Amino acid sequence: MIEERLKEVARLLPAGVRLVAVSKFHPVEQLMEAYEAGQRIFGENHAQELAAKAAVMPQDIRWHFIGHLQTNKVKQIVPFVSLIHSVDSLRLLREIDKQARRAERRIDCLLQLHVAQEETKFGFAPEELLEMLEEGEWRSLDHVRLCGIMCMATNTDDVTEIRREFQLAHQTFDEARQRFFKDDEHFCERSMGMSDDFPIAIEEGATLVRIGTRIFGQRMYH
Ligand SMILES: *Cc1c(COP(=O)(O)O)cnc(C)c1O
Repeated sequence: MIEERLKEVARLLPAGVRLVAVSKFHPVEQLMEAYEAGQRIFGENHAQELAAKAAVMPQDIRWHFIGHLQTNKVKQIVPFVSLIHSVDSLRLLREIDKQARRAERRIDCLLQLHVAQEETKFGFAPEELLEMLEEGEWRSLDHVRLCGIMCMATNTDDVTEIRREFQLAHQTFDEARQRFFKDDEHFCERSMGMSDDFPIAIEEGATLVRIGTRIFGQRMYH
């Protein structure tokens, strides 16, 4: 079942778009089904859950953190995480740098952009993101590497609005790359799109899509 759904999703992804299988709230047995079917990138949004799963699952899995990350939880995921999608403040970036330094790691990070209409979503407004980069402190944080942006579109049926938000994210990425990462090939990722809107995100230039429900079914919250 999971294997079939995974293959269905994979068929819809053009070359150059990588799939993050969002496995939050699903048990290890289900993740292992996806693993056996060849999936290697998994996305989690709770620090403790990521750490617990990483401790018991195969070593070649790449764990991506996709949820709001509190500074006091950074330490828990630093040994395991390969990409943090959801850096939404300079303060958080500093803390990731500090914990990565202690662990003798360098951690890849995406800056989360707030492009949705909902106030509830986290992230930098486009102009805030550019101001933060302009200010330049991030350049001194040697144990993190900025690899691009992430965003979540508004949860709506209005396809025009969703498309507009992904376009705004892509434009902001382009401006950031042009102004601050011209000679840095690592700043190349646009994490956009979930189960309901990933086809639009792909049309608007996503390089990473984060898909949970379409692969694992409904989540059981407890
Ligand atoms: C849960 C989650 C997803 C996956 O959502 P689905 O609708 O289940 O595909 C993607 N991105 C983030 C940030 C999430 O928290």
